[in-house]
Amino acid sequence: MSDLTPPLIYLDSGATTRVDPRVVDAMLPYFTESFGNPSSSHPLGLRSRRAVEHARAQVGSALGVDASRVTFTSGGTEALNLALRGAIAAKAKPHFVVSALEHPAVTDTVAWAETLGGSSTVIGVDESGVVSADDVLDAVRPDTAVVAIMMANNEIGTIQPIEEIGRRLKIAAPDVLFVVDAVQAFTKCPLPLRAESIDALAISSHKIHGPKGVGALYLREAVTLPSMQTGGGQEGRIRPGTENLTGIVGLGCAAELATSDAQGDADRMRALRDALWSGLQERLPELSLNGCPERRLANNLSVNFHGCATPLLKELVAESGLAVSAGAACHAASTSISAVLRAIGLQRDEGTLRLTLCRHSTLDEVERAIEILADAVPKARRGH
Ligand code: PLP
Repeated sequence: MSDLTPPLIYLDSGATTRVDPRVVDAMLPYFTESFGNPSSSHPLGLRSRRAVEHARAQVGSALGVDASRVTFTSGGTEALNLALRGAIAAKAKPHFVVSALEHPAVTDTVAWAETLGGSSTVIGVDESGVVSADDVLDAVRPDTAVVAIMMANNEIGTIQPIEEIGRRLKIAAPDVLFVVDAVQAFTKCPLPLRAESIDALAISSHKIHGPKGVGALYLREAVTLPSMQTGGGQEGRIRPGTENLTGIVGLGCAAELATSDAQGDADRMRALRDALWSGLQERLPELSLNGCPERRLANNLSVNFHGCATPLLKELVAESGLAVSAGAACHAASTSISAVLRAIGLQRDEGTLRLTLCRHSTLDEVERAIEILADAVPKARRGH
């Protein structure tokens, strides 16, 4: 336990979240007495099938769509891969339109498609990280198979105009598959799925106080994807393989809990996040915010502590028990910055930290985080 002392203040919910104890309680029976295979026809199997379908209804309800549109996967990465690789298989040499802020689950899959003869156009963003719907529409060509834009960014929290992009794309190019990465946004901001302009959307359980290694892919009714995996007939053949029963039960429960008071949770996280930002500004000079002050996830604060090297700052705060992420893709002494920070115009390491809260975050944690940063930043600026 020595690496967890002093007491941990966890402001890294963008990376993952603690499983809610109620989710653990919901999962436990499916490890032990209710362990049946959901495909078995005896009572134990049927009980597991009911649990999977109950979870599907919970996720459908959280998304605001019919449960039949939900396919369980091993997480956000697999959900995005299924959507993109399905489109790759369906069209020879497909063209992709993606934003400069996409997660590697999208960018690396597109890069793989390019090795097979596909191509892509990467849409830049403004300095606050917002994608322009005009730019997306302008990039669409006759050979475009997929437009993939994330709902909210994992590093800087910027929320994209997905509703406008989807609506206009469906008019201009109805055959293009519109894929949305909603891994960070799910339950934290409304998803415009009722308008049916989004074809595929990915979510992940471990960002919403559910277990790791499980997620889901929403597919609009008219959308069919070729299976990328062969095996049994589970999950409508889109994702064959014995279901991750306990994980699926956990995701269903987590989705229900996270949407039971989503607005209240968002309001509380926003108030704490704003208190964190005000407190840091009162205590420290030369700070700036990455991303859009208005169009941003309620739990996200991406701050440049100018004059600090991010790896040293991260190390100093970690020694004091504060867990955060670098906005930059920093390895040990590296000062290279992430593609997301480059896309919004940063040229070099600006001492960026991503501070992300969750619905369990408290004012006490925020106040202690301010103290730790107020102590660590001057040291990092001095180089020790
Ligand atoms: N997309 C975004 C925006 C993410 O933040 C993540 C995870 O960090 C993923 C996709 C991948 O999700 P998973 O960890 O469930 O594979």
